[in-house]
Amino acid sequence: MNSEIKITVTGTGFVGLVTAAIFADKGFNVVALDIDQEKIDIVNKGETFFFEPNLPPLIRRVTLDKRKLTASSDIIDSIKESDVTFICVGTPSQEDGSCDLQYIEQSARDIGRAIKLKEDYHLVVAKSTIVPGTTRNLIKVAIEKESGKKAGEGFGLCMSPEFLREGQSVHDTVFPDRIVIGEFDLRSGEMLEGIFKKLYKDEQDEFTANWEGLYNKIVNCPEIIRFSLETAECIKYANNSFLATKISFINEFANICERIDGVDINDIAKGIGLDFRINPQFLRAGAGFGGSCFPKDVRAIMKFAKDVGYEPKILQSVIDVNAHQAKRMVELAEEKLGDLSNLKACVLGLSFKPGTDDMRSAPSIKIIDQLLSKGMTVIAWDPEAMNEAKKAHWIGEKITYADSIHEALKGADVCFLVTEWDEFKNLEPMDFKIMKTPTLIDGRRIYDPKRFLKEGIDYSGIGIGLKSN
Ligand code: NAD
Repeated sequence: MNSEIKITVTGTGFVGLVTAAIFADKGFNVVALDIDQEKIDIVNKGETFFFEPNLPPLIRRVTLDKRKLTASSDIIDSIKESDVTFICVGTPSQEDGSCDLQYIEQSARDIGRAIKLKEDYHLVVAKSTIVPGTTRNLIKVAIEKESGKKAGEGFGLCMSPEFLREGQSVHDTVFPDRIVIGEFDLRSGEMLEGIFKKLYKDEQDEFTANWEGLYNKIVNCPEIIRFSLETAECIKYANNSFLATKISFINEFANICERIDGVDINDIAKGIGLDFRINPQFLRAGAGFGGSCFPKDVRAIMKFAKDVGYEPKILQSVIDVNAHQAKRMVELAEEKLGDLSNLKACVLGLSFKPGTDDMRSAPSIKIIDQLLSKGMTVIAWDPEAMNEAKKAHWIGEKITYADSIHEALKGADVCFLVTEWDEFKNLEPMDFKIMKTPTLIDGRRIYDPKRFLKEGIDYSGIGIGLKSN
Protein backbone atom coordinates (compact mmCIF):
# COMPACT_ATOMS: atom_id res chain seq x y z
CA MET A 1 0.00 0.00 0.00
CA ASN A 2 1.44 3.34 -1.05
CA SER A 3 -0.27 5.04 1.86
CA GLU A 4 2.13 3.25 4.23
CA ILE A 5 5.11 5.14 2.82
CA LYS A 6 5.42 8.67 4.15
CA ILE A 7 7.21 11.09 1.87
CA THR A 8 8.58 14.55 2.55
CA VAL A 9 9.59 16.82 -0.30
CA THR A 10 11.78 19.69 0.78
CA GLY A 11 11.63 22.76 -1.46
CA THR A 12 8.06 23.35 -2.62
CA GLY A 13 8.96 25.22 -5.77
CA PHE A 14 8.21 24.16 -9.28
CA VAL A 15 9.78 20.68 -9.14
CA GLY A 16 8.93 20.01 -5.50
CA LEU A 17 5.24 20.85 -5.79
CA VAL A 18 4.71 18.77 -8.92
CA THR A 19 6.66 15.82 -7.49
CA ALA A 20 4.76 15.99 -4.21
CA ALA A 21 1.40 16.20 -5.98
CA ILE A 22 1.98 13.20 -8.25
CA PHE A 23 3.12 10.99 -5.35
CA ALA A 24 0.07 12.13 -3.35
CA ASP A 25 -2.26 11.42 -6.26
CA LYS A 26 -0.98 7.87 -6.32
CA GLY A 27 -1.83 7.33 -2.67
CA PHE A 28 1.39 8.21 -0.85
CA ASN A 29 1.13 10.45 2.22
CA VAL A 30 3.17 13.49 1.31
CA VAL A 31 4.26 16.61 3.18
CA ALA A 32 5.67 19.39 1.02
CA LEU A 33 8.16 21.52 2.95
CA ASP A 34 9.39 25.03 2.37
CA ILE A 35 10.88 27.98 4.24
CA ASP A 36 8.44 30.29 2.45
CA GLN A 37 5.27 30.39 4.60
CA GLU A 38 3.30 32.14 1.85
CA LYS A 39 3.74 29.16 -0.49
CA ILE A 40 2.78 26.75 2.30
CA ASP A 41 -0.44 28.65 2.99
CA ILE A 42 -1.38 28.74 -0.69
CA VAL A 43 -0.85 24.99 -1.15
CA ASN A 44 -2.84 24.17 1.99
CA LYS A 45 -5.75 26.13 0.52
CA GLY A 46 -5.58 23.78 -2.47
CA GLU A 47 -4.16 26.48 -4.72
CA THR A 48 -0.98 27.07 -6.73
CA PHE A 49 1.40 30.05 -6.75
CA PHE A 50 2.64 29.85 -10.34
CA PHE A 51 1.01 29.24 -13.69
CA GLU A 52 1.30 25.65 -14.89
CA PRO A 53 -1.30 23.88 -17.07
CA ASN A 54 -3.13 20.99 -15.37
CA LEU A 55 -1.57 21.62 -11.97
CA PRO A 56 -4.43 23.55 -10.23
CA PRO A 57 -7.03 20.72 -10.36
CA LEU A 58 -4.38 18.20 -9.29
CA ILE A 59 -3.36 20.29 -6.27
CA ARG A 60 -7.00 20.81 -5.33
CA ARG A 61 -7.66 17.09 -5.56
CA VAL A 62 -4.69 15.89 -3.51
CA THR A 63 -4.98 18.55 -0.81
CA LEU A 64 -8.71 19.21 -0.33
CA ASP A 65 -10.38 16.07 -1.74
CA LYS A 66 -8.02 13.16 -1.12
CA ARG A 67 -6.14 14.85 1.74
CA LYS A 68 -2.92 13.10 0.76
CA LEU A 69 -0.80 16.26 0.45
CA THR A 70 -0.19 18.88 3.10
CA ALA A 71 2.37 21.64 3.09
CA SER A 72 4.41 22.70 6.08
CA SER A 73 7.30 24.87 7.21
CA ASP A 74 7.91 22.56 10.14
CA ILE A 75 10.82 20.96 8.33
CA ILE A 76 12.66 18.88 10.93
CA ASP A 77 9.58 17.37 12.61
CA SER A 78 7.97 16.53 9.27
CA ILE A 79 11.11 14.78 7.98
CA LYS A 80 11.41 12.88 11.26
CA GLU A 81 7.90 11.49 10.76
CA SER A 82 8.57 10.41 7.15
CA ASP A 83 10.40 7.47 5.52
CA VAL A 84 11.93 9.23 2.54
CA THR A 85 12.86 12.82 1.73
CA PHE A 86 13.24 14.24 -1.77
CA ILE A 87 15.44 17.35 -1.92
CA CYS A 88 14.00 19.78 -4.51
CA VAL A 89 15.42 23.13 -3.39
CA GLY A 90 16.78 25.61 -5.91
CA THR A 91 20.36 25.58 -7.21
CA PRO A 92 20.69 29.00 -8.87
CA SER A 93 23.71 30.40 -10.71
CA GLN A 94 26.38 32.36 -8.93
CA GLU A 95 28.14 35.32 -10.56
CA ASP A 96 30.91 33.08 -11.97
CA GLY A 97 28.40 30.57 -13.36
CA SER A 98 28.92 28.00 -10.62
CA CYS A 99 26.02 26.27 -8.94
CA ASP A 100 24.96 27.94 -5.68
CA LEU A 101 24.66 25.06 -3.23
CA GLN A 102 23.67 27.01 -0.11
CA TYR A 103 20.05 25.79 -0.14
CA ILE A 104 21.19 22.21 -0.69
CA GLU A 105 23.54 22.47 2.27
CA GLN A 106 20.83 23.97 4.47
CA SER A 107 18.42 21.20 3.52
CA ALA A 108 21.00 18.50 4.12
CA ARG A 109 21.67 19.91 7.59
CA ASP A 110 17.94 19.96 8.38
CA ILE A 111 17.62 16.38 7.18
CA GLY A 112 20.60 15.39 9.34
CA ARG A 113 19.00 16.98 12.41
CA ALA A 114 15.76 15.11 11.72
CA ILE A 115 17.54 11.79 11.15
CA LYS A 116 19.33 12.22 14.47
CA LEU A 117 15.92 12.12 16.17
CA LYS A 118 14.83 8.95 14.32
CA GLU A 119 15.34 5.31 15.14
CA ASP A 120 14.35 4.01 11.73
CA TYR A 121 16.31 4.03 8.51
CA HIS A 122 15.57 7.09 6.32
CA LEU A 123 16.14 7.45 2.59
CA VAL A 124 17.37 10.80 1.24
CA VAL A 125 17.01 11.50 -2.48
CA ALA A 126 18.53 14.58 -4.15
CA LYS A 127 16.37 15.66 -7.07
CA SER A 128 17.76 19.16 -7.52
CA THR A 129 20.26 19.66 -10.32
CA ILE A 130 23.66 19.54 -8.62
CA VAL A 131 27.20 19.34 -9.99
CA PRO A 132 28.97 15.95 -9.87
CA GLY A 133 30.22 15.12 -6.39
CA THR A 134 27.64 17.23 -4.50
CA THR A 135 25.59 14.32 -3.14
CA ARG A 136 28.65 12.52 -1.80
CA ASN A 137 30.82 15.45 -0.73
CA LEU A 138 28.22 17.91 0.54
CA ILE A 139 24.87 16.23 1.23
CA LYS A 140 26.27 13.03 2.72
CA VAL A 141 28.89 14.88 4.77
CA ALA A 142 26.35 17.39 6.16
CA ILE A 143 23.81 14.69 7.06
CA GLU A 144 26.47 12.51 8.71
CA LYS A 145 27.76 15.47 10.70
CA GLU A 146 24.33 16.56 11.94
CA SER A 147 22.89 13.11 12.56
CA GLY A 148 25.96 11.34 13.91
CA LYS A 149 24.94 8.42 11.67
CA LYS A 150 26.69 6.87 8.69
CA ALA A 151 25.34 6.76 5.13
CA GLY A 152 24.50 3.18 4.24
CA GLU A 153 23.77 2.36 7.90
CA GLY A 154 21.54 4.97 9.58
CA PHE A 155 20.29 6.41 6.34
CA GLY A 156 20.26 5.74 2.60
CA LEU A 157 21.30 8.17 -0.11
CA CYS A 158 20.36 8.52 -3.79
CA MET A 159 20.44 11.13 -6.53
CA SER A 160 17.60 11.06 -9.04
CA PRO A 161 17.64 13.97 -11.49
CA GLU A 162 14.43 15.63 -12.65
CA PHE A 163 13.74 15.97 -16.38
CA LEU A 164 10.27 17.58 -16.42
CA ARG A 165 9.55 20.53 -18.71
CA GLU A 166 7.81 23.64 -17.43
CA GLY A 167 4.48 23.96 -19.19
CA GLN A 168 4.17 20.14 -19.38
CA SER A 169 5.36 19.19 -15.92
CA VAL A 170 2.32 17.17 -14.83
CA HIS A 171 2.37 15.12 -18.02
CA ASP A 172 6.13 14.62 -17.82
CA THR A 173 5.99 13.43 -14.23
CA VAL A 174 3.22 10.95 -14.97
CA PHE A 175 4.87 9.74 -18.20
CA PRO A 176 8.64 10.12 -17.82
CA ASP A 177 10.91 8.79 -20.59
CA ARG A 178 13.04 7.07 -17.95
CA ILE A 179 13.96 7.24 -14.29
CA VAL A 180 17.63 7.72 -13.47
CA ILE A 181 18.81 6.62 -10.03
CA GLY A 182 22.27 7.28 -8.67
CA GLU A 183 22.86 5.24 -5.54
CA PHE A 184 25.31 5.45 -2.66
CA ASP A 185 24.81 1.74 -1.98
CA LEU A 186 22.65 -1.16 -3.10
CA ARG A 187 20.11 -0.82 -0.31
CA SER A 188 19.41 2.84 -1.10
CA GLY A 189 19.03 2.11 -4.83
CA GLU A 190 16.75 -0.89 -4.20
CA MET A 191 14.53 1.14 -1.89
CA LEU A 192 14.17 4.04 -4.32
CA GLU A 193 13.54 1.70 -7.25
CA GLY A 194 10.81 0.05 -5.14
CA ILE A 195 9.19 3.43 -4.47
CA PHE A 196 9.25 4.39 -8.16
CA LYS A 197 7.81 0.97 -9.06
CA LYS A 198 4.95 1.64 -6.65
CA LEU A 199 4.43 5.03 -8.26
CA TYR A 200 4.60 3.61 -11.77
CA LYS A 201 3.26 0.15 -11.08
CA ASP A 202 4.92 -2.71 -12.95
CA GLU A 203 1.66 -4.15 -14.10
CA GLN A 204 -0.52 -1.90 -16.20
CA ASP A 205 -2.36 0.50 -14.01
CA GLU A 206 -4.50 3.54 -14.43
CA PHE A 207 -4.19 6.64 -12.37
CA THR A 208 -7.42 7.07 -10.50
CA ALA A 209 -8.03 10.53 -11.84
CA ASN A 210 -9.09 11.18 -15.36
CA TRP A 211 -9.33 14.81 -16.25
CA GLU A 212 -8.53 16.65 -19.43
CA GLY A 213 -7.50 13.36 -20.96
CA LEU A 214 -4.15 13.62 -19.23
CA TYR A 215 -4.41 10.48 -17.15
CA ASN A 216 -6.63 8.70 -19.61
CA LYS A 217 -3.70 6.59 -20.67
CA ILE A 218 -2.27 3.41 -19.25
CA VAL A 219 0.78 4.18 -17.17
CA ASN A 220 3.54 1.66 -17.72
CA CYS A 221 6.53 1.61 -15.47
CA PRO A 222 9.23 3.56 -17.29
CA GLU A 223 12.70 2.11 -17.59
CA ILE A 224 14.60 2.62 -14.35
CA ILE A 225 18.36 2.85 -14.78
CA ARG A 226 20.77 2.78 -11.85
CA PHE A 227 24.23 4.23 -11.64
CA SER A 228 26.64 5.83 -9.20
CA LEU A 229 25.71 9.14 -7.55
CA GLU A 230 28.15 11.07 -9.75
CA THR A 231 26.90 9.49 -12.98
CA ALA A 232 23.30 10.45 -12.17
CA GLU A 233 24.37 14.01 -11.38
CA CYS A 234 26.31 14.17 -14.64
CA ILE A 235 23.47 12.72 -16.76
CA LYS A 236 21.29 15.72 -15.91
CA TYR A 237 23.92 18.21 -17.06
CA ALA A 238 24.69 16.22 -20.21
CA ASN A 239 20.95 16.05 -20.96
CA ASN A 240 20.34 19.80 -20.67
CA SER A 241 23.62 20.68 -22.38
CA PHE A 242 22.74 18.49 -25.34
CA LEU A 243 19.28 20.04 -25.73
CA ALA A 244 20.74 23.55 -25.47
CA THR A 245 23.34 22.54 -28.06
CA LYS A 246 20.58 21.45 -30.47
CA ILE A 247 18.93 24.85 -30.13
CA SER A 248 22.16 26.77 -30.66
CA PHE A 249 23.05 24.49 -33.58
CA ILE A 250 19.81 25.27 -35.41
CA ASN A 251 20.21 28.97 -34.57
CA GLU A 252 23.73 28.91 -36.01
CA PHE A 253 22.32 27.45 -39.21
CA ALA A 254 19.52 30.04 -39.12
CA ASN A 255 22.15 32.75 -39.23
CA ILE A 256 23.72 31.09 -42.28
CA CYS A 257 20.33 30.68 -43.98
CA GLU A 258 19.57 34.40 -43.59
CA ARG A 259 22.46 35.03 -45.97
CA ILE A 260 21.21 32.62 -48.65
CA ASP A 261 18.48 33.99 -50.86
CA GLY A 262 15.22 32.04 -50.56
CA VAL A 263 16.47 29.53 -47.98
CA ASP A 264 14.39 29.01 -44.83
CA ILE A 265 15.73 27.41 -41.64
CA ASN A 266 12.32 25.77 -41.03
CA ASP A 267 12.77 23.76 -44.26
CA ILE A 268 16.28 22.80 -43.19
CA ALA A 269 14.98 21.69 -39.77
CA LYS A 270 12.29 19.58 -41.44
CA GLY A 271 14.81 18.05 -43.78
CA ILE A 272 17.22 17.00 -41.08
CA GLY A 273 14.60 16.27 -38.38
CA LEU A 274 13.25 13.34 -40.37
CA ASP A 275 16.60 11.60 -40.00
CA PHE A 276 15.90 9.36 -36.98
CA ARG A 277 19.45 9.94 -35.74
CA ILE A 278 18.62 13.64 -35.37
CA ASN A 279 14.80 13.83 -34.73
CA PRO A 280 12.70 17.00 -35.06
CA GLN A 281 12.66 18.06 -31.38
CA PHE A 282 14.51 21.22 -30.34
CA LEU A 283 15.20 22.24 -33.93
CA ARG A 284 13.15 25.45 -33.90
CA ALA A 285 15.30 28.43 -34.70
CA GLY A 286 14.47 31.63 -32.87
CA ALA A 287 15.30 34.25 -30.30
CA GLY A 288 17.27 31.74 -28.20
CA PHE A 289 16.73 29.60 -25.13
CA GLY A 290 16.08 30.84 -21.61
CA GLY A 291 14.35 29.62 -18.48
CA SER A 292 15.45 28.43 -15.10
CA CYS A 293 17.47 25.47 -16.35
CA PHE A 294 19.36 25.57 -19.68
CA PRO A 295 21.34 28.80 -19.17
CA LYS A 296 22.24 28.06 -15.56
CA ASP A 297 22.99 24.38 -16.08
CA VAL A 298 25.22 24.91 -19.11
CA ARG A 299 27.13 27.62 -17.24
CA ALA A 300 27.41 25.43 -14.13
CA ILE A 301 28.86 22.42 -15.94
CA MET A 302 31.22 24.70 -17.88
CA LYS A 303 32.53 26.16 -14.63
CA PHE A 304 32.79 22.67 -13.18
CA ALA A 305 34.69 21.46 -16.26
CA LYS A 306 37.14 24.37 -16.03
CA ASP A 307 37.66 23.71 -12.32
CA VAL A 308 38.60 20.11 -13.06
CA GLY A 309 40.98 21.14 -15.85
CA TYR A 310 38.95 21.01 -19.08
CA GLU A 311 38.01 23.94 -21.32
CA PRO A 312 34.51 23.11 -22.74
CA LYS A 313 34.60 24.52 -26.27
CA ILE A 314 31.26 23.34 -27.64
CA LEU A 315 29.39 24.55 -24.56
CA GLN A 316 31.04 27.97 -24.75
CA SER A 317 29.80 28.25 -28.35
CA VAL A 318 26.30 27.19 -27.26
CA ILE A 319 26.21 30.14 -24.85
CA ASP A 320 27.76 32.55 -27.39
CA VAL A 321 25.32 31.63 -30.18
CA ASN A 322 22.42 31.95 -27.75
CA ALA A 323 23.50 35.43 -26.67
CA HIS A 324 23.76 36.40 -30.34
CA GLN A 325 20.12 35.46 -31.07
CA ALA A 326 18.71 38.20 -28.84
CA LYS A 327 21.02 40.70 -30.53
CA ARG A 328 19.96 39.38 -33.93
CA MET A 329 16.33 40.25 -33.16
CA VAL A 330 17.31 43.87 -32.65
CA GLU A 331 19.62 43.88 -35.70
CA LEU A 332 16.73 42.71 -37.86
CA ALA A 333 14.71 45.74 -36.70
CA GLU A 334 17.64 48.05 -37.41
CA GLU A 335 17.99 46.59 -40.90
CA LYS A 336 14.38 47.62 -41.51
CA LEU A 337 14.13 50.93 -39.63
CA GLY A 338 17.68 52.23 -39.22
CA ASP A 339 18.12 54.22 -36.00
CA LEU A 340 15.67 52.90 -33.40
CA SER A 341 15.89 55.78 -30.93
CA ASN A 342 12.57 57.40 -30.02
CA LEU A 343 10.64 54.64 -31.78
CA LYS A 344 8.01 52.51 -30.06
CA ALA A 345 8.50 48.75 -29.80
CA CYS A 346 5.72 46.26 -29.14
CA VAL A 347 6.92 43.01 -27.53
CA LEU A 348 4.55 40.07 -27.82
CA GLY A 349 5.44 37.39 -25.26
CA LEU A 350 7.56 37.76 -22.14
CA SER A 351 7.84 34.30 -20.54
CA PHE A 352 10.78 32.19 -21.66
CA LYS A 353 8.41 29.81 -23.43
CA PRO A 354 4.64 29.32 -23.80
CA GLY A 355 2.74 27.49 -21.06
CA THR A 356 4.55 29.15 -18.16
CA ASP A 357 4.78 32.51 -16.43
CA ASP A 358 8.46 31.87 -15.65
CA MET A 359 10.58 34.90 -16.52
CA ARG A 360 13.90 33.45 -15.36
CA SER A 361 16.55 34.19 -18.04
CA ALA A 362 13.78 34.83 -20.59
CA PRO A 363 15.10 36.06 -23.98
CA SER A 364 12.52 38.89 -23.73
CA ILE A 365 14.62 40.44 -20.95
CA LYS A 366 17.76 40.57 -23.11
CA ILE A 367 15.81 41.94 -26.07
CA ILE A 368 13.99 44.60 -24.03
CA ASP A 369 17.25 45.63 -22.35
CA GLN A 370 18.74 46.35 -25.78
CA LEU A 371 15.65 48.17 -27.03
CA LEU A 372 15.66 50.44 -23.97
CA SER A 373 19.37 51.12 -24.30
CA LYS A 374 18.77 52.18 -27.91
CA GLY A 375 16.29 54.78 -26.70
CA MET A 376 13.08 52.99 -27.64
CA THR A 377 9.89 52.96 -25.59
CA VAL A 378 8.52 49.46 -25.04
CA ILE A 379 4.99 48.17 -24.57
CA ALA A 380 4.48 44.45 -23.97
CA TRP A 381 1.73 41.90 -23.67
CA ASP A 382 1.85 38.29 -22.42
CA PRO A 383 -1.14 36.10 -21.51
CA GLU A 384 0.40 34.89 -18.21
CA ALA A 385 3.80 36.42 -17.42
CA MET A 386 3.10 40.14 -16.99
CA ASN A 387 2.89 39.96 -13.18
CA GLU A 388 6.19 38.08 -13.04
CA ALA A 389 7.74 40.58 -15.45
CA LYS A 390 6.61 43.48 -13.28
CA LYS A 391 8.44 41.89 -10.34
CA ALA A 392 11.62 41.43 -12.39
CA HIS A 393 14.02 44.21 -11.50
CA TRP A 394 15.65 44.06 -14.95
CA ILE A 395 12.67 45.45 -16.79
CA GLY A 396 9.85 45.64 -14.25
CA GLU A 397 8.97 49.33 -14.17
CA LYS A 398 10.83 50.38 -17.29
CA ILE A 399 8.21 49.25 -19.80
CA THR A 400 4.45 49.58 -20.21
CA TYR A 401 2.14 46.58 -20.02
CA ALA A 402 -0.80 46.53 -22.40
CA ASP A 403 -4.26 45.18 -21.54
CA SER A 404 -4.58 43.42 -24.88
CA ILE A 405 -2.60 42.42 -27.97
CA HIS A 406 -4.48 45.13 -29.84
CA GLU A 407 -3.42 47.83 -27.38
CA ALA A 408 0.21 46.62 -27.53
CA LEU A 409 0.30 46.80 -31.32
CA LYS A 410 -1.54 50.07 -31.77
CA GLY A 411 0.78 52.85 -32.91
CA ALA A 412 3.98 50.78 -32.55
CA ASP A 413 6.82 51.20 -35.05
CA VAL A 414 8.00 47.60 -34.78
CA CYS A 415 6.66 44.40 -33.24
CA PHE A 416 8.94 41.71 -31.78
CA LEU A 417 7.28 38.29 -31.52
CA VAL A 418 9.29 36.71 -28.68
CA THR A 419 7.19 33.86 -27.19
CA GLU A 420 5.08 31.56 -29.37
CA TRP A 421 1.86 31.57 -27.31
CA ASP A 422 -1.20 30.21 -29.16
CA GLU A 423 -2.81 33.64 -28.75
CA PHE A 424 -0.27 35.03 -31.23
CA LYS A 425 -0.41 32.18 -33.74
CA ASN A 426 -3.88 33.20 -34.90
CA LEU A 427 -2.99 36.82 -35.61
CA GLU A 428 -3.61 37.87 -39.20
CA PRO A 429 -1.68 40.44 -41.26
CA MET A 430 -4.69 42.75 -40.71
CA ASP A 431 -4.06 42.74 -36.96
CA PHE A 432 -0.63 44.33 -37.49
CA LYS A 433 -2.03 47.11 -39.69
CA ILE A 434 -2.92 49.14 -36.58
CA MET A 435 0.81 49.70 -36.01
CA LYS A 436 2.30 53.02 -37.06
CA THR A 437 4.55 51.12 -39.45
CA PRO A 438 3.67 47.42 -39.66
CA THR A 439 7.18 46.02 -39.19
CA LEU A 440 7.27 42.53 -37.69
CA ILE A 441 10.31 40.67 -36.33
CA ASP A 442 9.20 37.06 -35.95
CA GLY A 443 11.50 35.59 -33.31
CA ARG A 444 9.74 32.22 -33.26
CA ARG A 445 8.87 31.82 -36.91
CA ILE A 446 5.14 31.35 -36.35
CA TYR A 447 3.90 33.34 -39.35
CA ASP A 448 4.00 32.61 -43.08
CA PRO A 449 6.59 35.10 -44.40
CA LYS A 450 5.32 35.13 -47.99
CA ARG A 451 1.72 35.78 -46.98
CA PHE A 452 2.60 38.50 -44.49
CA LEU A 453 4.86 40.26 -46.99
CA LYS A 454 2.22 39.96 -49.71
CA GLU A 455 -0.37 41.49 -47.42
CA GLY A 456 1.74 44.52 -46.63
CA ILE A 457 3.60 43.60 -43.46
CA ASP A 458 7.31 44.40 -43.47
CA TYR A 459 8.23 40.95 -42.21
CA SER A 460 11.61 39.66 -41.01
CA GLY A 461 12.16 36.34 -39.31
CA ILE A 462 15.05 34.52 -37.72
CA GLY A 463 16.60 32.17 -40.27
CA ILE A 464 15.05 33.16 -43.57
CA GLY A 465 16.77 34.68 -46.59
CA LEU A 466 14.01 36.87 -48.02
CA LYS A 467 15.59 38.97 -50.73
CA SER A 468 14.01 37.20 -53.70
CA ASN A 469 10.69 36.29 -52.04
P1 NAD B 1 12.24 26.94 -7.28
O1 NAD B 1 13.11 28.11 -7.08
O2 NAD B 1 10.93 27.07 -8.00
O3 NAD B 1 11.91 26.28 -5.87
C1 NAD B 1 12.85 26.08 -4.86
C2 NAD B 1 12.11 26.12 -3.52
O4 NAD B 1 13.01 25.74 -2.48
C3 NAD B 1 11.60 27.51 -3.16
O5 NAD B 1 10.21 27.45 -2.92
C4 NAD B 1 12.38 27.88 -1.90
O6 NAD B 1 11.65 28.68 -1.00
C5 NAD B 1 12.68 26.50 -1.33
N1 NAD B 1 13.78 26.43 -0.38
C6 NAD B 1 14.96 27.09 -0.40
N2 NAD B 1 15.71 26.72 0.63
C7 NAD B 1 15.01 25.81 1.33
C8 NAD B 1 15.27 25.04 2.50
N3 NAD B 1 16.42 25.15 3.16
N4 NAD B 1 14.31 24.19 2.92
C9 NAD B 1 13.14 24.08 2.26
N5 NAD B 1 12.85 24.77 1.14
C10 NAD B 1 13.77 25.62 0.69
O7 NAD B 1 13.15 25.85 -7.99
P2 NAD B 1 12.71 24.75 -9.07
O8 NAD B 1 12.51 25.38 -10.39
O9 NAD B 1 11.63 23.89 -8.48
O10 NAD B 1 14.05 23.90 -9.16
C11 NAD B 1 14.47 23.06 -8.10
C12 NAD B 1 15.64 22.23 -8.59
O11 NAD B 1 15.20 21.37 -9.66
C13 NAD B 1 16.79 23.05 -9.17
O12 NAD B 1 18.00 22.41 -8.89
C14 NAD B 1 16.52 23.03 -10.67
O13 NAD B 1 17.69 23.21 -11.42
C15 NAD B 1 15.97 21.63 -10.83
N6 NAD B 1 15.08 21.45 -12.00
C16 NAD B 1 14.17 22.41 -12.30
C17 NAD B 1 13.32 22.21 -13.40
C18 NAD B 1 12.32 23.26 -13.80
O14 NAD B 1 11.77 23.15 -14.90
N7 NAD B 1 12.03 24.26 -12.98
C19 NAD B 1 13.41 21.03 -14.16
C20 NAD B 1 14.34 20.06 -13.78
C21 NAD B 1 15.16 20.27 -12.70
